Amino acid sequence: MSRTLTIDDTLFQYIVDHAAREHPAQVGLREATRDHPYAGMQIGPDQGQFMALLVKLIGAKRTIEIGVFTGYSALSVALALPEDGRVLACDINDEFTRVGKPFWKQAGVEHKIDLKLQPAMKTLDERLAAGEAGRYDFAFIDADKRSYDGYYERCLQLVRQNGLIAIDNTLWSGEVARPAKNEDTAALQALNDKLHRDERVDVSLLTVGDGLTLARKR
Ligand code: SAM
Ligand code: CA
Repeated sequence: MSRTLTIDDTLFQYIVDHAAREHPAQVGLREATRDHPYAGMQIGPDQGQFMALLVKLIGAKRTIEIGVFTGYSALSVALALPEDGRVLACDINDEFTRVGKPFWKQAGVEHKIDLKLQPAMKTLDERLAAGEAGRYDFAFIDADKRSYDGYYERCLQLVRQNGLIAIDNTLWSGEVARPAKNEDTAALQALNDKLHRDERVDVSLLTVGDGLTLARKR
């Protein structure tokens, strides 16, 4: 018997109305992204609320985001951070990220989001070379799936002990449970297998959104 809900449009609307207390800028950014051809890449408001809660629970100040798109997840995390908190936001696409900037400003969190427009691997390697290993509290991985393992290994170095890494799309519309038809699915399967036995972290694979794995650094 399935123990996970099927979420139809009616239930999703109920979730939007009850699971998230969105800032007007979050509502505005969702609306501004709604007609974007890749709007489906945006996390849901329930996931944004959950990530904000996690950030507050662990008292995060320094965070990393890999894959910004139009900036909803970065906005959700930035709103949850204290005034001196920061998001090191990594993306390669200015057309996507510039959609979010007016909403970051509207929410008064623009100064917390440090956007780096270059391959995320380069940004992470630069931070490691600058001696920032162990200096971050939270990381959210949500960019190109084939690079997830490389992002995970770097984030594991960059976060402190007890720090948290959240990895998005780990259920990949259910494709991970079937023979892989493409490299993205194969990469996610390999990472899920690795995380399942990775003694460096405590893990929990949640059926939030398209699958969200939490890994706490031991
Ligand atoms: N977290 C976002 C949200 O909730 O709205 C969604 C991120 S979207 C799924 C993935 C993003 O990763 C895209 O904006 C894309 O430009 C970015 N991306 C793809 N390859 C990348 C790379 N090598 N380095 C950094 N960002 C990359
Ligand atoms: Ca995602």
